[in-house]
Order: sequence, then C-alpha cells, then structure tokens
Amino acid sequence: MNRIRASLIVLFILPLLFISACQPANKKETHYPLRVTTTTGMIADIVKNVGGKHVQVTSLMGPGVDPHLFKASQGDLQKLDDADLIFYNGLHLEGKMVEILKKIGKTKFVVAVADHLPKSKLLTAEKDQLDPHIWFDVQLWMEATNRVKHTLSQIDPQHRQDYERQTQQYLEQLEQLHEYARRQIGSIPKGQRVLVTAHDAFGYFGRAYDMEVVGLQGINTTSEYGIADVSGLVDLLASRKIKAVFVESSVPKRSIEAVVQGVRQRGHHVRIGGQLFSDAMGEAGTPAGNYIGMVRHNVDVITEALK
Ligand SMILES: [Zn+2]
Repeated sequence: MNRIRASLIVLFILPLLFISACQPANKKETHYPLRVTTTTGMIADIVKNVGGKHVQVTSLMGPGVDPHLFKASQGDLQKLDDADLIFYNGLHLEGKMVEILKKIGKTKFVVAVADHLPKSKLLTAEKDQLDPHIWFDVQLWMEATNRVKHTLSQIDPQHRQDYERQTQQYLEQLEQLHEYARRQIGSIPKGQRVLVTAHDAFGYFGRAYDMEVVGLQGINTTSEYGIADVSGLVDLLASRKIKAVFVESSVPKRSIEAVVQGVRQRGHHVRIGGQLFSDAMGEAGTPAGNYIGMVRHNVDVITEALK
C-alpha cells in the first residue's frame, strides 16, 4: 500500500509541483491555437514544424534584419504582449532586447532555445562572450528543436503526442541536412576550405563541417572593424590563393568589398562568391525562406565558389 501511495505521489503530485514552479506569476489565460512570438525567423520555423496546427507563429525579425542591432518597435511590443509564449535565441544574440524579454518573462513564458545546451558544445568568442550563432551547426539546432518540443508539451500537454511526432519528422529532415552539409563541404579540397565573411557568424559551421572560418568584424555586428583587420585578411587571401569571399544578407557589403579591392591591388584575384544567409533567412516563399533551405543555400554557394 505504501509503495502504491509513493508511486502515486511520484506519478501525479511531483509533475504538478514542477509545472506550477515553471508557471510565471500573473500569467494570462492561454489561447488555442497557442499564440507564439519568436525573435528570429529560424526559431519561428522550428515552432511551425513542431507545433503544426496547434500554434500560430509570428516572428519579429524578417529577412535581412540584423538581430544584434534589432530594437523592438511599438508594433513588436504588441506582438510580444499578444503572445502566450515567446521563444528567443539567447546567448546575447538579441543584445538590445535582453531587458524587455526579462521584464516580459515575469508574466509570460519566455524561453531561450539556446538555454539548455551544454556549455561544452558552445564556442567562446572574444571577451569570454559565448557565440550565439548556434543554428549554423545543424546538430545543435536539433537540440534547440527538442527544447521547443519540451516547452510546447509542457504548456499544452493535451497535444503532446502531436508535438512528439512532428518533432521526430522534423529531426529526420535535419539529420539529412546535416549529412548533406558534411558531404558537400567535404568535397572542397582541404586547403581551399576557408570561409571568409564580414562577421564571425560561421564559427559553429566551421567546427561542424571542418572549415576554417575568418570574419572581418567580431562576433557581434555592433563592433567596428579597422584597417588592420582588412589588411590581415588581404594577406591571408593573397598568400593562400583563396578563390572567393562571401557577403551576408544581414550585414552591409562594403567591408567585404574593401577586402576584395585590397587583394586585387596585390595582383591576386578573389571574387565575391555569393551571398550567404547568416543571421536571417530569405524572403518567405523563396528557397532560403525556411531554415533547411537557408542552410542548403549556404552550403551550395560555398561549395560552388571554393571547389
Ligand atoms: Zn551575427
């Protein structure tokens, strides 16, 4: 009898305690379908895939928007206020929204998808700041997907099975994407596997797919680059005879154009290999308008230009 009672406590009472501990105080009533607001489009894409018809997703940052510099407008604050649940990246990606998200977190579910990643899997950038660009390693993004699944299942346990099933399907696609990236990048000769971009967004990409990554600007687009950075890059490109450098959709092109000019003055030819999607996806309805298409686009552009 005592054992039965003990297992009843474990089965029913403890989960209730856990859930109530996670409920923010003064939380408003949740709607159906759940209204979810995300910061980046990549996170919105996870939520759509995991949540299906049980969620209504709005993302604050559209194509070409730089999350490091993004400030919430009055309209964005309304979208955050309307949401039952908010997902953001975390690790200081949304540097100008930290305070707002913290404040809203007192009355709503506000969850960072990067939050539960083991520290051993995260890269450190300059000044001990952790690199927030986790979506560039598809396997890390799979962990972020699981975080979204756990959160939706906790808030809306009625549809847990659907979240499980939809997550499984999405994870299978992501696993294939990871293999695709590995194969394609692996086909570039090792000496040419150098990725030169305007800002250091591709550190996780480089680690996951075995590429050397060099950025002109620090990890955060708010930091300035100097003449020394440009000439250092020019030296590297000229001495290693790198064929191409890349521009990014969410960062102004002029910095990388200055590098191309410098290399040409040294008599070596380097071209702009194409545009990569770094901190934002492409327009909705285009191939790079979802996460899988965005990663494939990047992998194809890089492989094509460097091979
Ligand atoms: Zn960035």
